Amino acid sequence: MNTRPYADIRDDLLAREARLRDEVRAHRAQLVEPGAATGNTFIAGSEGAAADAEDELEITLISHWQRELDEVSAALQRLNVGGYGDCERCGKPIGLPRLRALPEARLCLTCQEQADRAPHRS
Ligand SMILES: [Zn+2]
Repeated sequence: MNTRPYADIRDDLLAREARLRDEVRAHRAQLVEPGAATGNTFIAGSEGAAADAEDELEITLISHWQRELDEVSAALQRLNVGGYGDCERCGKPIGLPRLRALPEARLCLTCQEQADRAPHRS
């Protein structure tokens, strides 16, 4: 199968992955309590939280970027092992225009609209 059409998308994803990694690292370094943002539990409740208000903002940002980074990394993984560009729900091709707009998309537009309309808890 020809994967050339995705070459520019891969470049885009690699660039974003590098940028997001830098952002996450840089902002983690700014935390008063660096330990507050390790792992996936750093927004769980306030008990034991030594983070001040500024830290909370940082942690929100970091969590946002971390999630995006995970999606971008997962997309690169699919590019490497195969399956990139196929909808995870219906298996149909997601379509190049959508992939160019949202390279980390897992669902085709139809499935995405259904998912948005009836959101599952994630
Ligand atoms: Zn689909």
